[in-house]
Formats: sequence, structure tokens, C-alpha cells
Amino acid sequence: MSSNVNKQIDVTEDIVMLRTTGSPFNDGNIICINQSDGLVFVDAGRIAETAKEFRKDMETRFKKKAKLMVLTHLHVDHLDGIAAFKDIPIIASQKAVELYLENEKNHHYSKQGREWFVENQNLEEKTGKFTLSKEWHTDWAVNYVKAKVYPPTLGVKEELAIGNGDERFLFRPIGGHTECSSYLINENKGILIAGDNFNCEHADNSLCMLNSAIKFIDVLKKFEELDFNTIVPGHGKVVDKGYLTKTRQYLEEMSANMKKLKAKNTPVEEAINDPSLPSFFEEKLPQQMDSVLKFWYIEVN
Ligand SMILES: [Zn+2]
Repeated sequence: MSSNVNKQIDVTEDIVMLRTTGSPFNDGNIICINQSDGLVFVDAGRIAETAKEFRKDMETRFKKKAKLMVLTHLHVDHLDGIAAFKDIPIIASQKAVELYLENEKNHHYSKQGREWFVENQNLEEKTGKFTLSKEWHTDWAVNYVKAKVYPPTLGVKEELAIGNGDERFLFRPIGGHTECSSYLINENKGILIAGDNFNCEHADNSLCMLNSAIKFIDVLKKFEELDFNTIVPGHGKVVDKGYLTKTRQYLEEMSANMKKLKAKNTPVEEAINDPSLPSFFEEKLPQQMDSVLKFWYIEVN
């Protein structure tokens, strides 16, 4: 049994974030935005039952129906709970629509395709390449095979306004974490919903963002140019804009110093322990930080 805890966090009186903690897996945050003509949900998490319960709670709390599901990107920890929203329009970037169709064609979303993936992981584990945890078998694989996904019903190329007046959010594709990644911004209320282009508390969550972050420092800079003070991440707690700046500064310093080490042909094992690299900027160090650093060393140029 997993020890997952689902917590509803009030971001404002009209925005609620569902956060799963205690999970050894990537469980993306699900966000509910209360607008006058209905509820907008952002991302669907990994498990449809969790998403269904959250939707029901929000419909009861705000006495309104869900009107729209918005996907920030297509990774399983944000997409696989989508069955909870199959009766309402689903929007994503145009790139996400194309990627969905391609994945579908390659059988990534069918039951057989999912079963095949799990079997393949089991086979690879037997070769000794890696070890899968007990929870991987009892929680992740079970939910992965069970998940039934639905395609976005509208693809957005540049921008889509959701809601009117002060409550209006702008949905904009931006790339970064994935080619199909998007964000939502409400500059009147000062809220940025970032998807996996921004995560925090990496030690307690996933490394969704961190693994690829060295490649999309520019996206963080673009975020900093927007007018907001609260940031709702794809994983982790709600933080202020200063936290984003702190994250970007750490990544920039890391990138610059790693480039220097690479230019001197410092071997990777030595480079990742070099004193010139900044120490991790959050309170807790992610367990797999060594492998992240090795990955960054390869990625910087
Ligand atoms: Zn994620």
C-alpha cells in the first residue's frame, strides 16, 4: 500500500491546488480555478479516482460544474487522470495535440501498449539494469495499466483567453520542459500556473523539472518578465516570484561553472564534485542529485 496523502491547498479564495505527498512517484498537482460560469481544472494528475474525488469536492464547494480541462503537457503524471474530465472540453497546445496523435498511433495509450511497457520494464529489471521498488509494482504499474486517456479537443497555437474581466487567465504554449509545454497567467490577480516549467521542493517530489531545467533557463527568464507574485508549480508547494528568481540564479551559476569545467576537460565524476559549483539552493538535497549533475554536465554547452 502506498502512503499517498492528497491535500487541498487554497491558493486564493477561487483557486485550489490538490497536492499529493508521501508518494514515491511523480504525482502532478491538479488545480481548480473557480470562474463565474464554471470550474476550470488544470492538469489531471496520475490517477483518475483521485482527480474524480477532487472534481466532486470542488463542484460541491463552489456549487458549480466543471467547464474546462487544461493540460500543461502530456507526461503521464499530468495526463493519466484525464478520464475524470472526459465529459468536458480538454485544451492543450497544438504541439500537444500532434504529440498525442503520434503517441496514440505508436500504441502508447492503449491497454496493450501500457501492458507491454510494464512487461518490458519487468524484463529489463531481470537483466539487472535497475531495481524497481515494491511500490512501483503495486501502485505505479497498476495505475499505469488501468489509465484510460482522452485526446485534447482543442489545440492552441499562441494564446487562448479563459474567462472574462479580472478572472481571465491566458493560456500560452511556451515549450521548455517539453516541446508541448504551456502555462496559464492571470496578471490581474498575479497568479502564474507553470506546469513542469517550474517545480519546487524537489527532494520531496519529482525531478520532472530539475532533470531538464539546465536547458530551459530562458523559459524561467520569460516567466520573470510576467506580472505576478504567486506561482503554482507542476509539483511542490505554492511559492512567490522570489523563489523563481532564486531557482533561475542557481541554474545560471551552475550552467556557467559547468561550462568552464567542461572546457577544461574535467572528467564528469570530478566535475560534479567541484567546489566551483553552487550548492543546492533548497533546504533538502534531492537523493538523485548526483545523476542530475551528471546529466547537466552532458547537457551544457
Ligand atoms: Zn511532472
